[in-house]
Amino acid sequence: MMLYKEPAPIKDKENPFESMMSRFNIAAEVLGLDEETYNVLKSPSRQVIVNVPVTMDDGKVRVFEGFRVMHSNILGPSKGGIRYAPDVFLDEVKALAAWMTWKCAVVDIPYGGAKGGIICDPYSMSAGEIERLTRAYTNSLIDIFGPDRDIPAPDMGTGPREMAWLMDEYSKTRGSTEHAVVTGKPLVLGGSLGRVEATGRGVMVSAMAAMEKLGMDPNKSTAAIQGFGNVGAWAAKLMAERGVKILGISDVSGAYWNDNGIDIEEAIEYKNAHNGRLEGYKGAEGMDPDELLTSKVDVLIPAAVEDVITIHNVDKIQARLIVEGANGPTSYKADNIINEKGIMVVPDILANSGGVTVSYFEWVQNRMGFKWTLDRVNGRAERIMNEAFERVYAASQKYNVPMRIAAYIVAIDKVAMTYKYRGGF
Ligand code: GLU
Repeated sequence: MMLYKEPAPIKDKENPFESMMSRFNIAAEVLGLDEETYNVLKSPSRQVIVNVPVTMDDGKVRVFEGFRVMHSNILGPSKGGIRYAPDVFLDEVKALAAWMTWKCAVVDIPYGGAKGGIICDPYSMSAGEIERLTRAYTNSLIDIFGPDRDIPAPDMGTGPREMAWLMDEYSKTRGSTEHAVVTGKPLVLGGSLGRVEATGRGVMVSAMAAMEKLGMDPNKSTAAIQGFGNVGAWAAKLMAERGVKILGISDVSGAYWNDNGIDIEEAIEYKNAHNGRLEGYKGAEGMDPDELLTSKVDVLIPAAVEDVITIHNVDKIQARLIVEGANGPTSYKADNIINEKGIMVVPDILANSGGVTVSYFEWVQNRMGFKWTLDRVNGRAERIMNEAFERVYAASQKYNVPMRIAAYIVAIDKVAMTYKYRGGF
C-alpha cells in the first residue's frame, strides 16, 4: 500500500502567498487603503479542498487532492486557470488566485480572481486517466463553477482538451450546453480565435511598450526567454517578428544559446515534433539553465514558474528590462535589488494579463452566440494591454514607485472603489 505523502516543502523558496501579500501591503500603504477594505481583500473569500477518486488504467482507484480558491468576486464572477502539477499546493493556489484578482483589475475586465489546482503528474498519466480526473474534479466543484459564478481556464499542465471535458461534464449536469462556463476551449467548442497565443502576445505588447519608454530599439535589442511552453514560445516568436534577437531559450530539458539569434520558428517546429520539449535541439549550443537568467541580454522574459529571480541570482542579472510572462517569477526579496539596479520590471499581473483578457472575449462571444474575427480579438486585446500599461506607468510616475507596486496600486484602487459602491456579498 502506498501511503499518502505531504508534498515536500520547497527548499529556499519563498511562500508565494507571502510574496504576493508583501507587495499588496506596500501598495495598500501608498494608497492609504482603509482597514475595512484591507481586511476584505487580504484573504481569499472562499477556499475549497476536494479529494476525488479516479479509476486508473490498471483498474485501481487513486484519490487525488485538488483545490479551488476564489480570492474575490467584487468585480464580478471569479476567473482563473487550473494547474495540474505534482507539487502544486494550497498557498500557491491562494497566491495565484489573488494575482488573478489584481490582473483582471489592472486590465479593467469585470472579473474577480480564482485559481484551481490538482496534485498530479499529467505527463505520466494516460489521456483516459486525465479525462476521468478532470471530470471528477468538475463534478466535485459543480456548485462552485458557473458562467456567472466562477469560470476556470487553462494553466500549467492543462489546455483546450481539459477545458472541453470540463465544459462537457458541467453541461451534462445542467442538461444544456454551457459554453461560457470555461474559457480556453478548442475552437470548435466555442473557443476564441487568438486565445492560445493571447498570453504570449500580451507579453510582447507590454515588452514593446516598455522598450519604447526606455528608448530601446527592438531591432537592436536582444532577449532571453525562460520557458518554452505556450507563453514563452509565443512571446519568443512574436518578439522575433518585431526584430528582437532571441539569443537564449530554455525549457525543462535545458537551456539553449546562439550568439547569432535562435531561429524561433525552427525551435517551435522542433518542439512540436518532440513531445513539446526542446531536448536535443541543434539550432543552438547547450547552456546551464541558471546562466540563462543572468546572461548578457537587454530583455529577460521569465515565462515558466514562480520564484526564479531570487536573492541568489538577482545581483548578476544584466538585462535592463524584465517582462514577467510567468506568474510570480520574482521573489519579493529580490525586488529591492532590482530597483537599486534600475531594471524596469513589467510585472506579471500586467505583462501576462493578455491571456485572461482574451478569455474574457471568449466568454463574451459565448454569451452572444457569435464569433469574432482574429483581427478583432487581437486589436481589442492590444488596445486593452496598451491602456493598462499606460495606467500603470502613470501610477508609477505619480507615486514614484516601481512598475510592480504601481500595478498593485491600480488594481487595489479599482477593487477598493468597487467595494465602496457595492459592499461585499
Ligand atoms: N491561467 C492564466 C493566467 O494565469 C489564464 C487565466 C484565464 O484565462 O482565466 O492568467
